[in-house]
Amino acid sequence: MDITMVKDLRGKIKHQQCLKGYTTFKVGGSATLFAEPTNPEELQGVLDYGKEQGLKIFVLGKGSNILVRDSGVEGLVVHIPRGAFGRIERSDEQVLVEAGVSLPRLIHRTAEWELKGLENLVGIPGSVGGAVAMNAGGKYGTVERWIEEVSTIGYDGALHSYTRGQVDFQYRNAGLGQQIVLGARLRLEKGSREEILHRMREVYEEKSGSQPLSAKSAGCVFKNPPGQSAGGLIDQSGLKGFKVGGAMVSRKHANFIVNWSSATAAQILELIQRVREEVKKRFGVWLEPEIKIW
Ligand SMILES: Cc1cc2nc3c(=O)[nH]c(=O)nc-3n(C[C@H](O)[C@H](O)[C@H](O)COP(=O)(O)OP(=O)(O)OC[C@H]3O[C@@H](n4cnc5c(N)ncnc54)[C@H](O)[C@@H]3O)c2cc1C
Repeated sequence: MDITMVKDLRGKIKHQQCLKGYTTFKVGGSATLFAEPTNPEELQGVLDYGKEQGLKIFVLGKGSNILVRDSGVEGLVVHIPRGAFGRIERSDEQVLVEAGVSLPRLIHRTAEWELKGLENLVGIPGSVGGAVAMNAGGKYGTVERWIEEVSTIGYDGALHSYTRGQVDFQYRNAGLGQQIVLGARLRLEKGSREEILHRMREVYEEKSGSQPLSAKSAGCVFKNPPGQSAGGLIDQSGLKGFKVGGAMVSRKHANFIVNWSSATAAQILELIQRVREEVKKRFGVWLEPEIKIW
């Protein structure tokens, strides 16, 4: 792999960085340019560089909701690492958390602090930045419920701060457009450690009993159509266990595609297409992807 560090005061930018290891699907090609800023100033420099060069920007958290094509990503991938954006601070029931913190870590930390709210999100991997951008959640609620304020930096380098009501949270989308989440201020509720840990165990048992959490996947592939379950439609189409090469519709949860044996992104994409066509044929519903395809 040819990785050259561009000697640039404005940040460390690598050429042709393979993205496979940066996603939970473990497939895909390289980014033409890849930056991992180690502090907010470097991030600003990286964005300035992208703007000057007219590059398309892709923001990467922990890659748990992304499918990178085998041909890779043409543009500048900006990875938000925990090392540089990893602060978690508490003041009474408020928690200030930076985008690079992993959501599981935040959930465990707030449980230690006897603050309840996030325990219902247990089992969701990814970063806080990704969770806010995707409005991550499930049947027991989404991240939005606990957010008071979101801070961002626009691709143009401008800093913003939005109160909860100013963010247009929707189903798996915070509508932040060309902005990078830097952090969020949450307001949780006082609870007891036992109660919170008990709930975490309950939610985790339910999730791990119905989803292939340890397989290489990107979570649910399709959004649920209004009033329907994408997984239910795929299951009723008889597609559980259906394979294209090393990609398979999970036998445990039909809305998960797993990389069970050295799949390529092309195989996953073909499987996605076959699933959509079959569900359309049987139920007249065209499923929309929840995962981001780069
Ligand atoms: C086993 C498994 C189970 C899952 N279960 C759930 C679930 O129950 N509910 C659920 O909602 N999701 C679930 N997911 C999907 C995924 O974990 C979430 O969407 C998660 O919030 C994505 O975070 P990430 O850091 O991995 O984001 P990435 O995958 O890196 O990015 C996802 C999107 O968010 C954007 N993004 C990431 N970071 C930032 C940032 N700092 N600023 C702006 N945009 C950003 C990216 O550009 C991309 O568009 C699951 C995934 C797996 C693998």
